[in-house]
Amino acid sequence: MKFSIIAVGDELLIGQVNDTNTGEIARRFGEIGWEVNDALVIADDADAITSAIDRAFRATDVVLMTGGLGPTKDDITKATLLRYFGGEMIYDETVLANIEKVFERRGLKMNELTHRQAEVPSSCEVIQNEVGTAPIMWFEKTGKVLVSMPGVPFEMRAALEKIAPKLEARFPNDLKIVRRTLLVTDITESALAQRLEAWETNLPKFAHLAYLPQPGLIRLRLDCHISEKETDDAARLFDEMRTLVGDNLLFDDDLPLEAILLDELKRRELTVATAESCTGGNIAHRITSIAGSSEAFVGGIVAYSNKVKISQLGVNANTLTEYGAVSIPVVEQMATGACRRLGADCAIATSGIAGPGGGTEEKPVGTVCIAVAINGQVTSETRRFPGNRERVIDRATSTAIISLIKELRKH
Ligand code: ATP
Ligand code: MG
Repeated sequence: MKFSIIAVGDELLIGQVNDTNTGEIARRFGEIGWEVNDALVIADDADAITSAIDRAFRATDVVLMTGGLGPTKDDITKATLLRYFGGEMIYDETVLANIEKVFERRGLKMNELTHRQAEVPSSCEVIQNEVGTAPIMWFEKTGKVLVSMPGVPFEMRAALEKIAPKLEARFPNDLKIVRRTLLVTDITESALAQRLEAWETNLPKFAHLAYLPQPGLIRLRLDCHISEKETDDAARLFDEMRTLVGDNLLFDDDLPLEAILLDELKRRELTVATAESCTGGNIAHRITSIAGSSEAFVGGIVAYSNKVKISQLGVNANTLTEYGAVSIPVVEQMATGACRRLGADCAIATSGIAGPGGGTEEKPVGTVCIAVAINGQVTSETRRFPGNRERVIDRATSTAIISLIKELRKH
C-alpha cells in the first residue's frame, strides 16, 4: 500500500524547524508494510495546500498531513480543508472539552485563539488529540482518505498510534513490505557492492537492495514487496544476504551503535567509562541517549586540556611532552586512567585534531587516536577522518564505539 505525506509549515521551508515528522510517519507505517509514494513540504498557504492535496490524491488513496494547525495559522489549513472536502465549520464540544482538560493539566488559561481550535469542518471525523489542543481530522472523499495531524512531534506520534490501526483496517493490504537491515563494517561500499554484484543482479523484481553508508559502517537494507505466499522467498533472500556479508557483519538489525554496545556490556555484566578529548563528551552523550544506559555506563571525563588529562586521568606529563596529546601512549593512558578513576571495567578514550585549525604535517586535521580498555587490556589505533569538525567528531565517536563492541566480542 502506497501513501503520501504533506508537511505544512513556513517554519519548515525556511529551515527554522527541521521536518522530522515525515521520517517518523514513514517509519511507523513501514512497520505495517506501507510505503511512502512521495512527501511534500509546503507553506502555510491555501493554494499550496490545495495543489499538494490534488497532486497527492492523483498518486495515492491515502494522504497524511501534519502541521499548520497551531492556534495562529490553523484557519488557513482548516479553511482549506473545509473548501476541499465541503461542509461547514462547526464548534465541536468534545474537542473543546479535550482542550480544557489539556489546559487544566498544563495549568494554563484558555484564550480566544485556543477556543477557535475547537472549530472543525463538519465533513471530517474528529479523533481526539489527548496530548494537545489541535484535533486530529479524518476526511474521506470518493474512496480517498486524508488525515490531518498536529505538527508538534510528540502530539503527532500519539496521533499516529491512533490512526495507523484505523487506516490498516480501512485499507486491508495484499502487498506488503518486509525489510531487513544489516550493519556492515570493515569494508568499503564499492568492495561490498562488488561482492554482492552477481547476487544483486539476479534478485527477483519484488526485492530492492540499498546501501546506506554512515560513519564507520554501511547499513545494507533489502526491501521485499511481497504477497503472503512469497514470504518464504523473501526469507531465503535475507539468509543469502546475511551469508554474503559474512564476517563483515557487525549487527543483524538496524540498531544504533550505542545500543549494540550497551547490549554487549550488559550481557557480560561489565561497566564502561569514557575519557574524551576531541569528541568532547559526544561518546558519553550517545551512550546516555539510550534508555537503560545506567546499567552499564558509570560516567565520563572530558579531558580537553593537558592539565585535566594529567590531574583527572593520571596521564604522565613526560608522555605528553614526548609524544604530544594526540598520540597512542597518551590515549592508552587516558583509557586506563578512566577505568581507575571512575571504577569501570571498560573505557573508551579519544584524543585528536577535529580542526579546522591545529593540524601539522605529521598529524593533520582529522587525526584521531582511539583506545579501548577491557579489564586492564588496552587496544588502540590512530585514524585519519575526512570532513569538517562535526564530521570528524561524529566519525571518531562511531569508530570508538565500534572498536569497543569488537573487542568485547573477542572476550
Ligand atoms: P501556527 O500554525 O499557529 O503558526 P505552529 O506552526 O506552531 O502554529 P503547527 O504547524 O501545528 O503549528 O506546528 C506546531 C509545532 O510543531 C511547530 O512550531 C514546529 O516546531 C513543530 N512542527 C511542525 N511541523 C513539523 C514537522 N514536520 N517536523 C517537526 N516539527 C514540526
Ligand atoms: Mg506550522
